[in-house]
Order: sequence, then structure tokens, then C-alpha cells
Amino acid sequence: MSLSPDQVRLMMLQVADAIIEAEPMLSQADRDLGDGDHGLGMKRGMEAVKVQLEPMEPSSVEQVFVTTGTAMMTSMGGASGALFGTVYRAGGKALAGRAAFDSEGLALLLEAALEGVMKRGGAKPGDKTMIDALAPAAARAREVTAHDLTDAFTAVAAAAEAGKESSKAMVAQFGRAKTLGEACIGFPDAGACSVTIMLSTMRDFVSA
Ligand code: ADP
Ligand code: MG
Repeated sequence: MSLSPDQVRLMMLQVADAIIEAEPMLSQADRDLGDGDHGLGMKRGMEAVKVQLEPMEPSSVEQVFVTTGTAMMTSMGGASGALFGTVYRAGGKALAGRAAFDSEGLALLLEAALEGVMKRGGAKPGDKTMIDALAPAAARAREVTAHDLTDAFTAVAAAAEAGKESSKAMVAQFGRAKTLGEACIGFPDAGACSVTIMLSTMRDFVSA
């Protein structure tokens, strides 16, 4: 099974709605660790994504993801706008020339997203950022490229969830949470929560 560019567009619209719906939870997660603006920032980004994707007739998978990233980058501002913009822009560019989105494409997307975010933000696994969900998801995606896209997404979403859970035990090295030191232990990173919601919504879309 693989997704056409238009199916990827519909998948990303479902992701946008899921993030908008999760705004209170994401705001609370960021409040526990930082300044509390992550939920509203992501909501604003996803509303901008919907404006772009709703009327779009995409000619490629790359176009859907790159447009998503550009909309987030230009509407959210701040560190996380640039970082989540990079997730989708760098990830999307790695799919150039691929006619449909399949399990290999999922691995390429997540590997390029991870590389782009690490280069842009300078954080690494264990620093209590979105990378702690993204890195295990990308690694798992590479292991399951021979599987059907539904199975691949199930494995990848579970890896992201486990990574998000593991971020609870970490001490933040970036962003506002860094000033909390050990007080941030026990809470998951807000950006890792967003990554997990995105990937589990994609899993639900392809499983439906
Ligand atoms: P801000 O930090 O500007 O308040 P948000 O609250 O929207 O932005 O986003 C915070 C999230 O951004 C964090 O939970 C973390 O996942 C992610 N983040 C912050 N700095 C980095 C970084 N250097 N690399 C990767 N992700 C980061
Ligand atoms: Mg914040």
C-alpha cells in the first residue's frame, strides 16, 4: 500500500485537526516545563497548514510536506516554528521524485527530518526535545521499510510514544525548560508530545 499525493494531503489535514484538538494538552505540557506557548503556537501553525492544503491539488508528495513545513515556519515564529518547519521541509525534500508515499518514503522523511532538526537546533538525543520522539521513530522506520505502510506506521508511532515517555526522565538542555534543571523530571517534552500525536494520527489515517 502507498499513498498518492492527494491522500498525503488528506492525511496532513487530519494531522492538523488532531494537533488543533490537542492544544490544551500541549499547552499544559509546555506549562509544566516552559512558558506554555507550545500548544497555541502549534495550533496557529496547523491553521496556516489547513489554509494551504485545503484548496491544494498536489502534484507530488514532496509538495504536500514542503508546503506544510513552510506554512508552519512562516506562521508560528520562534524556535519551534523554525524547527517544526524544518521537520516537514527537510523531510519533504528527501521525497523528491517519488511518485507515492510508502514505507521507504516514511523512513526517508523521518531520517531527513531528524537530520535537519539536529543541524538547525543543535540538540541531540537525550536533551529532552522533540528529537527524543523523532530519533527512535526514524530508526524504527528504517527497520520496517519492507513492511506494509500500515504496519510501518504502527511500529513508528509506537517508537515515538516510547521515546516521548523516555523524555520524562530527562533533564532539559534546550529552551525554557533548561532553567528548571531537575524539576523537569517526570514531565514529557512538549515537542515530543506533538511529534507523537502527529505520527499516531498518520497511523490512524492509513489504518482506517
Ligand atoms: P519555545 O521554546 O520558543 O517556547 P515552543 O514552546 O513552541 O517554543 O516549543 C518548545 C519545544 O521545541 C520543546 O518542547 C522542544 O521539543 C522543541 N525544541 C526546543 N529547542 C529545540 C532544539 N534545539 N532542538 C530540537 N527541538 C527543540
Ligand atoms: Mg514554549
